[in-house]
Amino acid sequence: VSCCWQLSVFRCLRTNLVAGQRNMSQSSLSGKVAIVTASTDGIGLAAAQALGKRGAHVVVSSRRQANVDKAVALLQSQSIQVTGTTCNVGKREDREKLVQMTLDRCGAIDILVSNAAVNPFFGNIMDSTEEVWDKILDVNVKSAFLMTKLVAPHIEKRGGGNVIFVSSVAGYQPMQALGPYSVSKTALLGLTRALAPELAQSNIRVNCVAPGIIKTRFSSALWQNEGIVDEFKKQLCIKRVGEPEEIGSVIAFLCSEEASYITGETITVTGGINCRL
Ligand code: NAP
Repeated sequence: VSCCWQLSVFRCLRTNLVAGQRNMSQSSLSGKVAIVTASTDGIGLAAAQALGKRGAHVVVSSRRQANVDKAVALLQSQSIQVTGTTCNVGKREDREKLVQMTLDRCGAIDILVSNAAVNPFFGNIMDSTEEVWDKILDVNVKSAFLMTKLVAPHIEKRGGGNVIFVSSVAGYQPMQALGPYSVSKTALLGLTRALAPELAQSNIRVNCVAPGIIKTRFSSALWQNEGIVDEFKKQLCIKRVGEPEEIGSVIAFLCSEEASYITGETITVTGGINCRL
């Protein structure tokens, strides 16, 4: 009896030891296929790099062929498996082409990172027009949902996977002169929560990342202006602007098995800005 008891304690310890270990393969995305929209520059490109470095085959896209070619060449030079195509996420035929091309070339889809956004308007929100709202909501919100709807059946066929939206700190606290854009980013927090329970049934986790000010072309008007940066730094715990790689790594984490119990969540990556709705 004593021997049996010792054996089961030993087995239990051994099992727990294994369970508690950090398994390298949990962060590996080897064999996965990841579509990242708006991924020829900035945060999208950094997300593609982070996913690719963990072994995923990444499908990069944006509106301009020259940008796609440059991004594909860069990722290939880093030994990342990559396919590229043009895709303006605001256009239905482009979204469908992106998904079909991924299936044709890679045979499957496991991950969608919906990263595209536009901001055609700076000013008082009361001066924004219907055209501005249509453009912002089409690209920043509707396309995120419509891309998810297109890929979800294919991710389900693989037994599950991940959808990640890229929101913004502006989604929590609207930025001055960026009213409609900020509202579109708040909508993504809601979309994340609305989709998570339904897609959990297909073993698809839906999460969101809300970056603070990150050094990219999109935000250059902010970080190139010393006055604005100094004002922002007052809100930051980490007194610097973020780098795209610091968002890419969080996106890759959310897509990995290490985040297997996280869904419906938005992770703020802001250098410590207080974010509350
Ligand atoms: P970025 O460096 O300027 O890159 C934008 C990328 O989007 C480019 O590859 C661009 O390529 C592509 N693009 C633009 N419009 C597109 C469209 N309609 N369809 C497909 N691709 C399109 O921008 P970023 O700063 O990385 O921004 C990426 C995301 O992060 C956005 O959702 C933005 O709201 C969010 N974000 C950024 C910051 C920040 O501080 N940078 C902060 C919070 C949130 P083409 O010109 O070839 O299309």
